[in-house]
Amino acid sequence: MAHSEALLVLENFIAGRFVPCSSYIDSYNPSTGDVYCRVPDSGKEEVEAAVRAAKNAFPIWSSKSPLEKSQILNKLADLIEHDLEAFAQAESKDQGKTITFARTVDIPRAVYNFRFFASSILHHTTECTEMASMGCVHYTSRTPVGVAGLISPWNLPLYLLTWKIAPAIACGNTVVAKPSEMTSVTAWMMCKLLEKAGMPHGVVNMVFGTGAKAGEALVCHPDVPLISFTGSTLTAQRITEKSAPHCKKLSLELGGKNPAIIFDDADLSQCIPTTLRSSFANQGEICLCTSRIFVQRGIYSEFVKRFVAETKKWKVGNPSDPTVDVGALISKEHLEKVRSYVKKAKAEGAKILCGEGVDSLALPAGNQKGYFMLPTVIAEIKDESCCMQEEIFGPVTCVVAFDTEEEVVKRANGVKYGLAATVWSSNVGRVHRVARRLQSGLVWTNCWLVRDLNLPFGGMKASGIGREGAKDSYEFFTEVKTITIKH
Ligand code: NAD
Repeated sequence: MAHSEALLVLENFIAGRFVPCSSYIDSYNPSTGDVYCRVPDSGKEEVEAAVRAAKNAFPIWSSKSPLEKSQILNKLADLIEHDLEAFAQAESKDQGKTITFARTVDIPRAVYNFRFFASSILHHTTECTEMASMGCVHYTSRTPVGVAGLISPWNLPLYLLTWKIAPAIACGNTVVAKPSEMTSVTAWMMCKLLEKAGMPHGVVNMVFGTGAKAGEALVCHPDVPLISFTGSTLTAQRITEKSAPHCKKLSLELGGKNPAIIFDDADLSQCIPTTLRSSFANQGEICLCTSRIFVQRGIYSEFVKRFVAETKKWKVGNPSDPTVDVGALISKEHLEKVRSYVKKAKAEGAKILCGEGVDSLALPAGNQKGYFMLPTVIAEIKDESCCMQEEIFGPVTCVVAFDTEEEVVKRANGVKYGLAATVWSSNVGRVHRVARRLQSGLVWTNCWLVRDLNLPFGGMKASGIGREGAKDSYEFFTEVKTITIKH
């Protein structure tokens, strides 16, 4: 453990109170390799208590007006924003991400998630049709579903958790949330602000622990009719199986193997810095990160030369240093897994242009045992290779050449995933054509990660089921009823 520092010990948050757990899991600081925090190892008993609290809170919360709920969400956003620096420091330490990323992306977005749904909930309308010949009007009515089970991953901890909590409670549900056991600290910190925000007890309950114990207890609980999950495709399959006997409403936001398609008329001065970010931001640990770069043959050599030169400039090191671009990966196991992909590519005859195994990594004295790796670019690799087919979820990207539009669309679609794609071209007709043909829930052209939260977010194929966004989340977190009145 971190020798002189006292261990941080988290507690579950149930019915408005922090409650200790009978057993705990060690949580590591990825940039030092030290255990620095203990996370409750919750199971059925703790989930049961949290679901009971959420059920008890449901009648009062679900009957509040949109305006009342909106005011509480806005207040919570203000409180998180007030403590932005403390949240950012905690997220960076817990996850390994750079302090700059936590300050500018994770925590501001968590604040915005609450503000966005606080506002959007005020503006929904329902449908109405008239059937004059029958003397009838039909209209739809939407009501909250009940206790929502929310399960989130470790890569963007508070950002993705609040992207679920905010719409769930804005729609009048009460929630039991289970963050990743590897990154629970900022969720726990947020619980400390709920009372001050005016959140009634039991509306938001937080149960910490592993997926196998706490997560599965939530998925299998008969009084949780809805599960919103973000994580891996493998876990989603298990959740689907386990929830099937209960016919639960499921939203599944899963992995990706996202292509960037760069045509020879692309503006490389924009494309190269953005593709660097899309490949390596947050250590490549974003579901939307690019990991297959298709470059049209005419500009392939130039692109590769410039892209590799820029990649080498990315500084890897202590995440709390604001000049660092790449922090630590989440865990020792994950680092080994990411490295093993590079090894496999090399064994298959691919060329490692920079990074892992090619360049040397110099780390500060205090970070020698941290889980660091250099951003890595792989070339001369076949589309069938596991590095071109499987989600690596680290700072590794592959770059290959293509000749025609027809060919690249086929190759980009030739994976089991369909989450996000990026297209670079100055030909307007072509970007529309290609975007339409890509099997991908999101297509960015000449940019990356520009989001309007009003619009649907989510993947096709093995990247997920369902969409999230103003309207989509509203539909998911409510039940709709069609009512017919004859006059
Ligand atoms: P993971 O599937 O291992 O875990 C995600 C969450 O599920 C964690 O809280 C975990 O404890 C829980 N869990 C694990 N097993 C469970 C079970 N049997 N029942 C219930 N819950 C269980 O994923 P991860 O490694 O934390 O996150 C990385 C993955 O998430 C990547 O595949 C990434 O692409 C994906 N992701 C997708 C999106 C998106 O919006 N599409 C966003 C971020 C991350």
